[in-house]
Amino acid sequence: MTLFTPPKPLRRPLDGRARQMFIGGEWVEAASGRRFDSLNPATGAVLASVPAGDAADIDRAVAAARAAFEGPWSRFKPYERQQLLLRIADLFEAHWDELALSDTLDMGMPIARTRANRNRVVGMLRFYAGQATALHGATIDNSLPGDVVSFTRKEPLGVVGAIIPWNAPTAASIWKIGPALATGCTVVLKPSEEAPLTPLLIAELMAEAGVPPGVVNVVTGTGAEAGAPLAAHPGVDKLVFTGSTATGQAIVRASAGNLKKVSLELGGKSPVIVCADADMDRAVPLAAMAVFANSGQICIAGSRLFVARAIHDEFVARLAAFAEGLRLGDGLDETTDLGPLVSRRQLDRVEGFLARGPAEGARLVTGGARLTTGAFAAGHFVQPTVFADVADDMTIAREEIFGPVISALPFDTLDEAVARANATPYGLAAGVFTRDLTTTHRLIRSLQAGSVWVNTYHAIDPAVPFGGYRMSGYGREGGVEHLHEYLNTKAAFIRL
Ligand code: NAD
Repeated sequence: MTLFTPPKPLRRPLDGRARQMFIGGEWVEAASGRRFDSLNPATGAVLASVPAGDAADIDRAVAAARAAFEGPWSRFKPYERQQLLLRIADLFEAHWDELALSDTLDMGMPIARTRANRNRVVGMLRFYAGQATALHGATIDNSLPGDVVSFTRKEPLGVVGAIIPWNAPTAASIWKIGPALATGCTVVLKPSEEAPLTPLLIAELMAEAGVPPGVVNVVTGTGAEAGAPLAAHPGVDKLVFTGSTATGQAIVRASAGNLKKVSLELGGKSPVIVCADADMDRAVPLAAMAVFANSGQICIAGSRLFVARAIHDEFVARLAAFAEGLRLGDGLDETTDLGPLVSRRQLDRVEGFLARGPAEGARLVTGGARLTTGAFAAGHFVQPTVFADVADDMTIAREEIFGPVISALPFDTLDEAVARANATPYGLAAGVFTRDLTTTHRLIRSLQAGSVWVNTYHAIDPAVPFGGYRMSGYGREGGVEHLHEYLNTKAAFIRL
């Protein structure tokens, strides 16, 4: 086992100490004084305790964000916001090992992967920095009688409530905070109760970079106690949410009181179509990691694998061999491919699907069990699993598992594959493996998903919009249209 050597000294050692949350530029306790523990999913050890924020703390944070929005932050010019974002990017680069370590300890993602995410997250910050001075309205010729000039202004929406899941805390935080800072909004971030530690470290880096008090606030707490009051809060102008579809629906209902603008990045059951002409050497590892990356805990997991019947058996055999070669272990081990699932609750959920598969007639090709012995006993580990002979109506082919489980489904014609791929309420992503240009274009056109990857998977870039069709959500993260979701458009007319 080659253990990652953490940077020294750590600014916030992950040694079981009590943390505070960040409101109005200060580190504070929850008004109730209550706290909860954040655990290491690989070992079960307590990493730190954090405040259990609730509606009173959300009130405090929204008030701080409002005061900052109407006060000093409103006087920041676009150029100054840009410089601030660039300083944050530099600090993230300098402290990346610490951010990576924090994500690995708190939610289990292997250190090799959290470290490799550096350029992506720092790149997001620099992309938003670049956009800060590029946002503008337009002068529009009108057809009104007389001499009337008309133009639009782009204005920040105000206070943004951001609620994120646990599966990629650093990236999810920056997808929300970055555009807010670029556009001149302020933020109240509510991290997942399963992984609250990195967002607190991020708050510290923001303060060090010179983000004024109240511009970025982080309130830790559960979804019911802190998330729900944020979603319903009349002082929040916009809500950006990443999480499950069921919670997204609750958030839309909660947001109705003041009709705050809502953007939703939700769940998926993404199809991957492997055509008979696919380059198997390339497709097998990509199709496998389309699901097994982060132990399947990714919204874009390509968990329905449609394989052309002519190559199905060979493809599934090679997929199983690949799965069996993956190394499970503590995310701190440099050689780990798959870390633990985030929690006991998530492990129980995934185990439920592992039992449902064979019970409904699927054939277990490899994996299928949690690991309970030796170094795995105290953590939440489950084997990478491949099921074959899966029918479209089985539970494992319909529901989001959020675990390392592939369902292989043979197909005969491309039209049939597309129809079956689209037969889901979700529409987040899709993968295609083929060498044929016509097939490539036809499948891109007909797959109903926000992202379609051909001969690759997981490609996400700050300049390219990412988001869902149908019940995978609305709004986009990344790209210039993302920033416009944080802006109001004001039309102005002047009679000369
Ligand atoms: P979740 O919906 O249970 O929780 C997400 C966040 O919402 C957490 O911070 C939680 O505390 C909060 N929350 C829970 N109930 C709430 C309520 N009633 N009101 C307000 N906030 C509430 O999701 P999860 O289990 O943390 O994450 C897994 C889900 O997230 C999966 O469905 C996955 O597909 C999805 N996800 C989507 C994307 C994407 O970009 N589309 C990315 C990552 C994860």
